[in-house]
Amino acid sequence: MNTVTLQFLGAAGTVTGSRHLLSTGDRDLLVDCGLFQGRKELRLKNWEPFPIPPKDLDAVGITHAHLDHSGYLPRLVTGGFHGLVYCSRPTADLLGILLPDAAHLQEEDAEFANKKGFSKHAKALPLYTAEDAQDALRHLRPVMHKQVVQMDNGFQFHFHNAGHILGSKFLHVTADGVRVLFTGDVGRYRASGGKPETLPDPADYLVMESTYGDRLHPKDDVRPRLAKVIQETVKQGGTVVIPAFAVERTQRLLFLIRSLMEEGQIPSVPIHIDSPMAIEAVKIFMRYSEEFDEETKAMVKRLGSPLNWPQVHFDKTVEESKQASSSRYPAIIISSSGMATGGRVLHHLAQRLPDHRNTVLFVGFQAPETRGRLICDGAGTVKIHGEEIPVRARIERFEEFSDHADYEEMLRWLESFPGAPKQVFLVHGEPEAARALEQRIEKKFGWGVHVAQPGEKVALH
Ligand SMILES: [Zn+2]
Repeated sequence: MNTVTLQFLGAAGTVTGSRHLLSTGDRDLLVDCGLFQGRKELRLKNWEPFPIPPKDLDAVGITHAHLDHSGYLPRLVTGGFHGLVYCSRPTADLLGILLPDAAHLQEEDAEFANKKGFSKHAKALPLYTAEDAQDALRHLRPVMHKQVVQMDNGFQFHFHNAGHILGSKFLHVTADGVRVLFTGDVGRYRASGGKPETLPDPADYLVMESTYGDRLHPKDDVRPRLAKVIQETVKQGGTVVIPAFAVERTQRLLFLIRSLMEEGQIPSVPIHIDSPMAIEAVKIFMRYSEEFDEETKAMVKRLGSPLNWPQVHFDKTVEESKQASSSRYPAIIISSSGMATGGRVLHHLAQRLPDHRNTVLFVGFQAPETRGRLICDGAGTVKIHGEEIPVRARIERFEEFSDHADYEEMLRWLESFPGAPKQVFLVHGEPEAARALEQRIEKKFGWGVHVAQPGEKVALH
């Protein structure tokens, strides 16, 4: 029998670029195929040649649709990968909008850089095009919940619910008799009933995320605080800009804002969802409404589809986006990207940040050195499209909306683990967060824990 090896090709020492290579000697399975995001030195990694020729990979398994787990797929395919990409059905549906959108943003950014001439390279190029994204989508093979996928040589795997975003899964792989569980991202235990699945099957090795390994999320009701921020901003004639990705968190936020309006806790101002894929994202979200937690299910039942709400405007075109951006009336604008690293939210931020009446409300994880993080950390100015923009708006951060388990929730999930794994590998965390979680797991369970290093390859027995 060959030795099974695991190599960490991304998300080691950082939160983005999840790519884990499991090899049996004759077969290679890539688990997650994410984009590196955030600081430039990380983003440049997306341009490096893939460590093994993509054509030699047999298959890819994707835990969930977030781009830091899936966004490199088109590049893998243009690089020569011709195997299948396994994921859940909602993940496949979400990738159908997210990958073309990611391509579109990259094309737009390259075009913008070329037009303005601020690219340091002779000509800025997109990492991949919309056509490349469409090609990548043809490789997707949706897998039913708990369906066991048997590959022709050495690998078998199945999925469990991760409770992170719609369609998110843990991937349980058996490679030549060695059982490895990849968490992708671990979801939260919510009062409303959402939670990561308790695992019935033991694993020899666990590859686990550690994003919030050193932090706890506020557990109290987010509604009064959210209502207060929106109310105060609107009262002084300002607009609330929410940098957020069009899936999941945005949908929950949307239902929450709408129910606050219904209850009269905030004024009924226009809500702009500024993303060309927002309508499609809402449709997918509504299609899988049976998978929601109890609270969201109840809100969906009471309020119906956001597509029919009078206050909500879906700004599909750039023209509509510009109109929302220049409007002087108070509004709520939700636009991507969530860490303000690109996308239409940049135009809104350039417009709204200099005015103290406005509020920018961050609802997701902000990776180091992203614009989002700089603003949250109190930067006086930020650079947007080559210009220094003063930050005078009110800045708010709502960690309550996080879709990631905090360390208490991760330890709680590990308690349900059937038997001690031989080793836990921690990935998808900044070094301090990963180290903090390492210590907590060792202390609580006495298991062997190792913080994965970039490019490190380990033998599994
Ligand atoms: Zn995620």
